[in-house]
Amino acid sequence: VTFESLGLVEELCSACKRMGYKAPTSIQRETIPLALTGKDIIGLAQTGSGKTAAFALPVLNDLITTKPTPKGTFAVVIAPTRELVFQIHEQFAALGSEIGLRSVAIAGGIDMVSQAVALAKRPHVIVASPGRLVDHLEHTKGFSLRSARYLILDEADRLLNMDFEKEINKVISVLPRDRRSYLFSATMTSKVRKLQRASLADPAKVEV
Ligand code: AMP
Repeated sequence: VTFESLGLVEELCSACKRMGYKAPTSIQRETIPLALTGKDIIGLAQTGSGKTAAFALPVLNDLITTKPTPKGTFAVVIAPTRELVFQIHEQFAALGSEIGLRSVAIAGGIDMVSQAVALAKRPHVIVASPGRLVDHLEHTKGFSLRSARYLILDEADRLLNMDFEKEINKVISVLPRDRRSYLFSATMTSKVRKLQRASLADPAKVEV
């Protein structure tokens, strides 16, 4: 199986090769073709499985192939920790480096003002921790997620164990209803199922 055969555009297949990805991992083989049909996805996968590229590649594929090129925030990714926020941001930035992708990482511990400046540049992708994203929604003038077409909740079980349910629901409440949503989690719990019902529409399940 090749990245090309999953339906990804040439720019992204060459980005994968440049990053040293020889072939798609199993979570990528299962997720990408489904995601490219426009389905919402619930993915059960661990860190290290290649799940970040499994959700980043279909988002970037849609961004590249949508004409006219979408303006404003295209995708919002929520992850539980600073470290994960930066890792996901770096992977988006690397995969999108040749298509002029703008991605920002928004997490606590960095001053709000410089983040507000980065958000004002209208990045295509915002990767954020829930608390800091809600801070910006409430306090940063002119910032909204009204144009977002994707919501990705990564490591949903950890997000919920860290009690971020209220913040996640706030983000969901300001996103367009007409969007695609992906939820990834290492484990399926009753809380994850509840979040799935609140955030996804008729999702396809992928599991590795
Ligand atoms: P993740 O599970 O998303 O945290 O990814 C784990 C690591 O695997 C990251 O360093 C990725 O850059 C790398 N990776 C993702 N997809 C592939 C692939 N198809 N082949 C080789 N490495 C990959």
